Amino acid sequence: MSVFIDKVTVGQWYENAYLLYNEHEGWLIDPGDDFDVLDDAFGKKNIKLKGIINTHAHFDHLGAVAQFKEKYNLPFFIHSLDKRLVGQANLYRKLAKGVGVFSTPAIDGFIDQIPSFRLGDRQIAVVHTPGHTPGSVTFVIDNNIIVGDLIFSETIGRTDLPGGNLPLLNQSVNKILGDFKGFKVYPGHGKEFVITEEYTRLINNEMINGG
Ligand SMILES: [Zn+2]
Repeated sequence: MSVFIDKVTVGQWYENAYLLYNEHEGWLIDPGDDFDVLDDAFGKKNIKLKGIINTHAHFDHLGAVAQFKEKYNLPFFIHSLDKRLVGQANLYRKLAKGVGVFSTPAIDGFIDQIPSFRLGDRQIAVVHTPGHTPGSVTFVIDNNIIVGDLIFSETIGRTDLPGGNLPLLNQSVNKILGDFKGFKVYPGHGKEFVITEEYTRLINNEMINGG
């Protein structure tokens, strides 16, 4: 069975929401804002939505979770170490001058306590990649990794936001660069890219020079 990954960039922070799916079913990843736009793009495919899995719990990645849960009766999963950030998301959203209504979504399960997520005959592997937030995770399927705000096409993730930790982030980046050479990366902001040797050099330099 095929694996498809569609991206829609939403909201005032240009966050990438993804739908990971095959011919029959799919998972929503980081539905960050603009519920109507996402529902138009992702809700109208002729597949069964299985649930929402988030790379992390920053406010710009959570904005449409509650509405998707309500409309499609979907479970929402996040790493247990980001539980507190879910509760604080609305506060941080206001501090960041967020517009629009936000309702805090209920959490239905913790990613780190579930043995595996499946998409048809494939397993979606979960790698704990803390640093941007304590509970940041990377989802792996075939030759694709969905990394949240761990790395971007030209830089590493920020650690000056709630829950950030630079040494932990550097560790997580090294692990991903080492374990997923040649993989296609789907980041939380900006364009997709591949982990090439050139990319690895660029990021290593940034880590050595302190970003
Ligand atoms: Zn973030």
